[in-house]
Amino acid sequence: MSFRSVAIIGLGLLGGSTGLAVQAFLPDVQTTGWDADPATRARAATRGLVHTVCETAEDAVRDADLVILCVPVGAMGEAAAAIAPALRGDVVVSDVGSSKQFVARALAEALPGVAVIPAHPVAGTERSGPDAGFANLFQQRWCIITPPADADTRQVAALSRFWEALGAKVELMDAQHHDLVLAVTSHLPHLIAYTIVGTADDLEGVTQSEVIKYSAGGFRDFTRIAASDPTMWRDVFLSNKDAVLEMLQRFTEDLTALQRSIRVGDGQALFDQFARTRDIRRSIIEEGQDDARPDFGRSDHGRD
Ligand code: NAP
Repeated sequence: MSFRSVAIIGLGLLGGSTGLAVQAFLPDVQTTGWDADPATRARAATRGLVHTVCETAEDAVRDADLVILCVPVGAMGEAAAAIAPALRGDVVVSDVGSSKQFVARALAEALPGVAVIPAHPVAGTERSGPDAGFANLFQQRWCIITPPADADTRQVAALSRFWEALGAKVELMDAQHHDLVLAVTSHLPHLIAYTIVGTADDLEGVTQSEVIKYSAGGFRDFTRIAASDPTMWRDVFLSNKDAVLEMLQRFTEDLTALQRSIRVGDGQALFDQFARTRDIRRSIIEEGQDDARPDFGRSDHGRD
């Protein structure tokens, strides 16, 4: 089986990019879309993010055999409830949310009896809204699909082929494992970036203009991450609470160990740690998940 008509609910960065990617890489597939914000709907129509921008959520999904919810994680349940009455009997409902156990529960509750197969394209930028999307967002990025135990294997295979057609590499994973992995690779780094940028901003004795002027020394990269959408990230931390708190605890312990090495002058421990992390950076570049150039793709490649 393959999908012929895809409805996208939420036409921001992820929804817009999905709509543009379908048009670019699956030209025979029809796309419809809806967003709660009328201004976003108008902008989506002007940019042609989907073939048809509908006036209601129900109109958008009525003929779709695949519906992808591209709204903040905290809005998934509400978005699913809005489309429930108009779904086709053979529809597959998926999403792009950044945490998976919470979304799986919200969708199962709002859509009893519907085939729900959650997914998370690990691709994004710090930008949001209907002007942020681009067709190549998913190229060479991983899309993690977290099928429930009773999922129809043909539907899972069709969803995998869909994301592969948009340029992604697909991995199937248990939702709980996804949340743990993403807590360390994405959620914790965002929390650290939000903290560091906030700390610098609050520092007495260092002016804001100095923070901005001397930002090249590492701080600049944190500001890129800390510029990410506040609604999206509030929802990620609230919905993946347990895994994030567990990783935060581990991180705090490791930070305390580094703090001690600095205090007692244990240069070997610092050197060993920094050498280990350098190897991880090398592996990421070798895997094609980033580029050795310092400013790689900031404008046209996603990573989050
Ligand atoms: P975004 O650019 O802010 O787009 C989300 C859109 O959904 C906004 O236009 C929002 O409108 C709309 N919306 C909110 N509630 C809605 C509802 N109930 N029904 C219909 N539309 C609704 O955010 P995004 O970055 O695309 O993120 C969307 C999802 O992708 C999130 O679940 C996020 O976790 C996931 N994700 C994001 C990234 C990333 O890097 N950004 C990467 C991977 C996955 P308003 O602005 O008016 O609220």
